[in-house]
Amino acid sequence: MIYCDHNATTPLDPSVLEAMLPYLAERWGNPSSPYRFGSEVRLALEQARKRIADCLACLPAELVFCASGTESDNMALRGVARALREKGRHIVTSVIEHHAVLNTCKALEREGFRLSYVPVSSAGVVELDELEASLCDETILVSVMHANNETGVVQPIEQIAALTGSRGILFHTDAVQTMGKLPISCSGIGADLISISAHKFYGPKGIALLYIRTGTPITPIVTGGAQERDLRAGTENVAGIIGMTEALSLACEHQESEAKRLGGLRDRLEHLVLDAVPEVKINGADATRVPNTSNMTFAAIEGESIVLGMDLRGICLATGSACSTGMPEPSHVLRAMGLTARAAQSSVRFSLGRSTREADIDTIVGELQAVVSRLRAISCIGGGPA
Ligand code: PLP
Repeated sequence: MIYCDHNATTPLDPSVLEAMLPYLAERWGNPSSPYRFGSEVRLALEQARKRIADCLACLPAELVFCASGTESDNMALRGVARALREKGRHIVTSVIEHHAVLNTCKALEREGFRLSYVPVSSAGVVELDELEASLCDETILVSVMHANNETGVVQPIEQIAALTGSRGILFHTDAVQTMGKLPISCSGIGADLISISAHKFYGPKGIALLYIRTGTPITPIVTGGAQERDLRAGTENVAGIIGMTEALSLACEHQESEAKRLGGLRDRLEHLVLDAVPEVKINGADATRVPNTSNMTFAAIEGESIVLGMDLRGICLATGSACSTGMPEPSHVLRAMGLTARAAQSSVRFSLGRSTREADIDTIVGELQAVVSRLRAISCIGGGPA
């Protein structure tokens, strides 16, 4: 199998698994228990928090562990909205956010908040002027992702942080797709809240975090015990936290070299595909992208058919975000970039990762050429612009 869908999830790094095993087998105590069997686990958990804080250049007390990137996004949006509802009821986000953010925004609209959805350019970049124009006295929060999961397009978050910071508006960024792909430091990003999820960088599923800058007003959305300084109740997923810590530390250590290597392989993939397959367009090619992602439109065929055809040849690709698989609608991200519904449905995402080698790229291109020409021969969609 050639796995080329690392934006959906990544395999567990062997050293991450090794770090986790003692906390599943022998050291399974509850970190809140008063006896040593518990307090030793608490110590390991707090050491892990410190290690992550060092990697992200923030304070350990600014990190809250939770169960998923989705929960982290929910905590940021709902938590700030609830804490500041008396100050203002306007929230700004972009049209290309992950559903973890977009559907939470829809839910907040039903709770009486007013939402502005900022458009993107044809390259997939959030329109800064429109974002700035949408800010008003009532605005309490802006949430714009660090990089898009479907196209890999990096968003101007430093500029957004400057716009919000000078107006006293809070800024959240969903950095789920950038950890390990771009250099990440909390102060460098400049956001007040940052969401990160372990399974996107060779850590386990079911563990994530939210960075909350000291002093940021936030109300918990999961209530119960006093874990995570009253911000996220529930017995901690200790093995998950230990695994995420190891994975995050590896991701930071190898980020620069991996970004260089994957960027080279992604460029090779795009050049070879453009040479070998007619009528292909690369979405977001004019923007800065994370180095591992390429989203391509193949005129006159369904992306879904390409994914199925490639699967039969042992290659894993995606049509968009994994969460939208099975949904009939074309990608909201590609539509927002101006693609027609048909072109959006003719698109495929390639996301490379640590296991990807040059030979894999060559195999992918060879198989893709065969699958696309076969599908085009039997296609009833017809030609026309991608
Ligand atoms: N945000 C982005 C940009 C994502 O790509 C994803 C997952 O695909 C999520 C949030 C949700 O993360 P999780 O799968 O950990 O809930």
